[in-house]
Amino acid sequence: MSGAPLSIVIIGAGIAGCSAAIALTQAGHHVRVIERQDAWRFQSSGIFVYSNGLRALEDLGVLPDILTAGFAIPDGVNAYFDHHGVPIVETRYPTARGGRIPAILGIKRAELHRILSARMLALGVAVALGVEVTGLAQDAIKATVTTSTGAQLNADLVIGADGVRSWVRGQIAPAVTPRYTGFGVWRSVHRRPPGLTRKIMMMGPAKRYGIMPIRDDLLYTFGTVAHPAGDYIRPDDWPTRMRAAFAEFAAPIAPFRDQIGADSEVLFTAVEDVVMPLPWHAGRVLLIGDAAHASTPFMGQGGAMAMQDAVILPRALHAAPDLPGALALFGDLRAPVCRFVQEASRAVGEAGGREDVTDLRARNAALARTAQGAVDGFYDKLNALNAVAEARLGALGA
Ligand SMILES: Cc1cc2nc3c(=O)[nH]c(=O)nc-3n(C[C@H](O)[C@H](O)[C@H](O)COP(=O)(O)OP(=O)(O)OC[C@H]3O[C@@H](n4cnc5c(N)ncnc54)[C@H](O)[C@@H]3O)c2cc1C
Repeated sequence: MSGAPLSIVIIGAGIAGCSAAIALTQAGHHVRVIERQDAWRFQSSGIFVYSNGLRALEDLGVLPDILTAGFAIPDGVNAYFDHHGVPIVETRYPTARGGRIPAILGIKRAELHRILSARMLALGVAVALGVEVTGLAQDAIKATVTTSTGAQLNADLVIGADGVRSWVRGQIAPAVTPRYTGFGVWRSVHRRPPGLTRKIMMMGPAKRYGIMPIRDDLLYTFGTVAHPAGDYIRPDDWPTRMRAAFAEFAAPIAPFRDQIGADSEVLFTAVEDVVMPLPWHAGRVLLIGDAAHASTPFMGQGGAMAMQDAVILPRALHAAPDLPGALALFGDLRAPVCRFVQEASRAVGEAGGREDVTDLRARNAALARTAQGAVDGFYDKLNALNAVAEARLGALGA
């Protein structure tokens, strides 16, 4: 298509929708976004962004703001402890772009969204908040989105960036539904003591409980536990239930757990993933982000995958001769990377859930031997898969 400007409607202004709006506008396309929340209100807690996600954020023009608002872990250190607080091993995540991009950064989710939405608005993207998609139709020359306000938006391309429970996916691939993973994730936000600068992961009996700095003065804790399907926990009960879920953990995390009270920022999520075979599009409608490939959080990569989708999409639109070719190319480029992350993440979660809790010493000894190799192996493979996509785009002149 050699960059012919398209009219694009994006449904959903989460990480995927905001990032795609920025990347597509930067490439000269005309983008409108609808978001069902009536204000920029995003989940509390924090998010890790590893170097591949930070690379995408640099391409989106927001990296300096992200580095200011978040907390880059010095030397990318992740320190493992057992749940009694005995150190097991330290690993290091890789940096990117010759060391210029940090290995891992923590940031408050609300800050990440503040920065992405500000960039999107500064680029002149038209964003309608409090507006839901209610209808979708397409023919040979256009797609039409009907919204909850009764408006009809015509576009060359419609992007479903509407998350794990995607309405748009329900229209184009109704057989694909989220899978419940059997895990619940707890998160809480706290003041950060100045000396706490590492990512910390404490290995409990089939449970994990970690600490991540997210700002000069803040950190968040995150913990995973097995959680039966359908066991709804009322938000009022979250603080009590989070303390109880991790009662057996000692320092360095215990003081933060013990601070949790009725007024704390606590969040519980029963985790689903989405495994959608290609194609991720039908006609002029494309899915990106969690709508196409939601992952379990064990590798902390779901958001980065959404950011990478955004950066690759305008290049695929530029490289292919027509829209069907571009959307197929996008899926071919992204699916191997997203599938690899999903499978690696799911495997980590399942291994944790299956571990022999009567012999945690053996598990810890194995972790000490293998942890850095596992990190290196994951990032080598991720970088290799991204390089394949880059080479293909390069060969196509994009
Ligand atoms: C517990 C947990 C921890 C995680 N930790 C990390 C981490 O550390 N690092 C990382 O990279 N990733 C992490 N992830 C993954 C990451 O949060 C997701 O991959 C990312 O938020 C996906 O962004 P998205 O924009 O695709 O979807 P969402 O963030 O879900 O955004 C979808 C948007 O669409 C809107 N919307 C939905 N339906 C409609 C509709 N019908 N009309 C209009 N708008 C609509 C929603 O309001 C929302 O704003 C984690 C996930 C979980 C569950």
